Amino acid sequence: GSTLEIKDLHVSIEDQEILKGVNLTIKGGEFHAVMGPNGTGKSTLASAIMGHPKYEITQGSVLLDGEDVLEMEVDERAKAGLFLAMQYPSEISGVTNSDFLRSSINARREEGDEISLMKFIKEMDEAMDYLEMDKNMAQRYLNEGFSGGEKKRNEILQLMMIKPEIAILDEIDSGLDIDALKVVSKGINKLRDDNFGCLIITHYQRLLNYITPDKVHVMMQGRVVKSGGPELAQRLEAEGYEWIKEELGIED
Ligand code: ADP
Ligand code: MG
Ligand code: MG
Repeated sequence: GSTLEIKDLHVSIEDQEILKGVNLTIKGGEFHAVMGPNGTGKSTLASAIMGHPKYEITQGSVLLDGEDVLEMEVDERAKAGLFLAMQYPSEISGVTNSDFLRSSINARREEGDEISLMKFIKEMDEAMDYLEMDKNMAQRYLNEGFSGGEKKRNEILQLMMIKPEIAILDEIDSGLDIDALKVVSKGINKLRDDNFGCLIITHYQRLLNYITPDKVHVMMQGRVVKSGGPELAQRLEAEGYEWIKEELGIED
């Protein structure tokens, strides 16, 4: 498995510092959850790691198996095995879902070793069945007119087919009804193995009723302020974030 190391990461948006020294290490085989109140920088963390141009890294490093991720072009990050499911997946008109998937898979493979069309279609059919997706989703333009739930399911389809080393899933549970939440969780759980590590960013504990994280981290004001096991998420669900602020003497 691979290891993603985030060390002392500081990130600014338009000269305002949002991340103030984030440290996290995710290894293949591990599921980590990052929780925290709105506006604490969770999505900023995801976007900065994937190289969104708006996010300026002012200090710190992100290493994938010792390689400097921040020096890589965005497509090189994907090729190296990183995958990001955004809080708000973008619509790409003119590119079908199926074409997007196939080129993403091939981008991670060597030239001359592209996946055959037959194998691709078979794998896509199986994954779509598993995720209880309507088959016509394959031929629609990527995310265009997809409902919130369809977008999230489709992110998991991508995850299952692209098979990254490390995935960062930003609010993959937001806007899902309970059935969709179960399907999405089932897809993520199916990927659990030593060659897959996952950072699950969520505002709510309920996703973690279906996916048991190995570690739970709480982010506040641009830092990871507390880490623990699954019981930490349960306490947050029951008691909110106030007690952590009190415990750590954090002012609003
Ligand atoms: P979270 O995901 O934890 O809710 P975000 O990372 O989305 O938090 O936001 C953290 C802070 O950064 C917020 O104060 C937000 O307003 C600000 N921010 C995020 N993205 C942008 C942006 N593109 N432009 C300006 N400010 C932003
Ligand atoms: Mg937000
Ligand atoms: Mg967010």
